[in-house]
Amino acid sequence: MINIFTVDTEDWFHANYEGTDFSDDLKESSTVERNVDSYLEHLEGYGCKATFFVLGTVAEQFPQMIRRIADCGHEIASHGYAHLLVYRQSPEEFREDVHKSKSLLEDISGRRVLGYRAPSWSVVKESLWALDVLVQEGFLYDSSIFPTKNFLYGIPDAPRFANRPVVDGREAGILEIPPSTFRAAGLNIPFSGGFYFRALPFFLIDWFTSSVNSSGEPAVFYLHPREIDPAQPRLELSLRDGFIHYCGINGCERKLLKLLKKHKTASIADVFFSTRQTSKL
Ligand SMILES: [Zn+2]
Repeated sequence: MINIFTVDTEDWFHANYEGTDFSDDLKESSTVERNVDSYLEHLEGYGCKATFFVLGTVAEQFPQMIRRIADCGHEIASHGYAHLLVYRQSPEEFREDVHKSKSLLEDISGRRVLGYRAPSWSVVKESLWALDVLVQEGFLYDSSIFPTKNFLYGIPDAPRFANRPVVDGREAGILEIPPSTFRAAGLNIPFSGGFYFRALPFFLIDWFTSSVNSSGEPAVFYLHPREIDPAQPRLELSLRDGFIHYCGINGCERKLLKLLKKHKTASIADVFFSTRQTSKL
């Protein structure tokens, strides 16, 4: 079965822990372009495709990188403009942020942007209003609701597979593509990206992937450019946040290569929408 690979395309310093900021000075130490080029090389090497959820500020800094990603046949989608948590914005601020990022990415790539992923999965119960804004802004799918619960995000009883969310008794009119989880002991256990992917051994990721596939569903993976780069500059974080952010960073690229070798991947547009996002605007 074909699975889905996604990359939240942002820089090494885009993290939403308390006290982190994204000052312009940090842009000089950017690692995103070299990391994205590694992903492009690995995906090409194994004949895999992916969806790149690109942050607006990164697209502004590296427009040629966005064109390179699109020219390789991958999907360009939106990760918002300024990496702000959805539940810390008003609906109007959110609308402005996603509108800006969508038009920027469409201008640069010349292709229609179909999907959105919130920074840090920040579409939670209190910010489900965001789905209406996404529909009004012309998005066809969202991939921001994590069906688990931790200190930063999650809706633990949200559906585990692609679905059309119902908010206040009304269908929101958008397709939701959640990241994959493994169901055990009445809980959804994340495995398919970020900290969980870095922390778990490959055989478990492989096993959980097969389990998702045996339900007839594609697994949805997600990583960040920085997660395959042990040489990146380091953020000053608390013990807990530092562990979450850097755990398993040395072995992540190797694990990614094993994954791509064993499980062929495509973009969300490839799997859920008949076009391959090749239609020019
Ligand atoms: Zn992000």
